[in-house]
Amino acid sequence: MPELAEVELARRIWEPGKGQEVIAVESHPETRVYRDTPAGKIQTHLTRKMMVDSRTHGKRLLFGFSDSLVNPSARDPVIYLEVHLGMSGRLFLADPYYCPDKHDHFVLRTKNLSFVYSDYRQFGRVYLHQQDHKPWETLPLEVLHAKFTLAYLRQLTTRRKGTSLKALLLDQSIFPGIGNWMADEICWRLFRFPGTPLQELDLAVIRRVSRQVCRGALRHVADKNSSRDGKRGFSPGSYVEQVPPSSWLFQHRWKAGGACPRCHSPLERCTIATRTTAWCPRCQPMT
Ligand SMILES: [Zn+2]
Repeated sequence: MPELAEVELARRIWEPGKGQEVIAVESHPETRVYRDTPAGKIQTHLTRKMMVDSRTHGKRLLFGFSDSLVNPSARDPVIYLEVHLGMSGRLFLADPYYCPDKHDHFVLRTKNLSFVYSDYRQFGRVYLHQQDHKPWETLPLEVLHAKFTLAYLRQLTTRRKGTSLKALLLDQSIFPGIGNWMADEICWRLFRFPGTPLQELDLAVIRRVSRQVCRGALRHVADKNSSRDGKRGFSPGSYVEQVPPSSWLFQHRWKAGGACPRCHSPLERCTIATRTTAWCPRCQPMT
């Protein structure tokens, strides 16, 4: 599943849409990605709109559109398209005459490009928000936000002392954008077994290491892949061409015979917090 760095990369892939007017929206209206917002509504609201803004929050993408028909020079969004990539969602660019395949759920056509949202497993979702509805203002702070302080984290976790480290890191109301691979990476860097309860852990160190992993993921995944051809986007399983280096757990966790990049012990795997988890039994002994 795309985590915050892959989501940021997806945002950058659609970045060339800024300043371009949507002249048509094509969709596969029967697919599950429209369970929250009907395809026809997206078509009605985005046609003749201009993309003027894009941002991410955790695993969410938000694209703002101004009303180019009413006011061609307006740069303030009047409507927002929110996209969740789910397990297998993908954004990519194509030429203006691109012919969508069965997994391409909608295509925003501009004069020069097609902006494609594809999702073969259909766990992704799309929403529309009017200008006066700002859903992002009520979301939890992102991990790299300046106000994501130790005091803030303590406040959120006061009643969570028995929660496992892995479950805590996967909680999107506390660590938005962190998913399975980043959570495993953080546990490994903490030298702690992912099932360790929070009451045995130092929240200050969790905060520091989770921020390190977020920054590193953005650098190795979003920054290093941003210059590539957006026409391919990225795909699950082989998310991106440039991945975190071999000194990260990332490259070893699902490899047959995968070993800890630090001590070279064989990695172990089991289900923790409902997710398949990889860890090093030597660096992260069970307590
Ligand atoms: Zn190890």
